[in-house]
Amino acid sequence: MTSNEDFAKIVEMDDKIRLGEATHEEKVIMFEEMKIMQSKRKAIKATIEVISEPVTVRFECPYCENDISSTFNDFTDRIGEVCDWKYTEIECPECCGIIEIDGVDWN
Ligand SMILES: [Zn+2]
Repeated sequence: MTSNEDFAKIVEMDDKIRLGEATHEEKVIMFEEMKIMQSKRKAIKATIEVISEPVTVRFECPYCENDISSTFNDFTDRIGEVCDWKYTEIECPECCGIIEIDGVDWN
């Protein structure tokens, strides 16, 4: 029981119990639901995964030592998807030197 609809049902049953209108069966259901809700107040460990998206591509030009950066999308538009990058030659936008991509680091 987690949805708002289920919670509304519990509130409704709780009102019935307080007004003395609840049947024995409804009281039993209510008791079970409250036990489940209480059990969810205890913390249980779970691993979370952060899904990240590539944003920026950066490298130091081996000719002019300028720090070159570009958005990931502009970079893939120019030279293709990541799997094609190794050994691809690119031109430094600062000095026009031709650079062969030797490796890609994901940070
Ligand atoms: Zn350069």
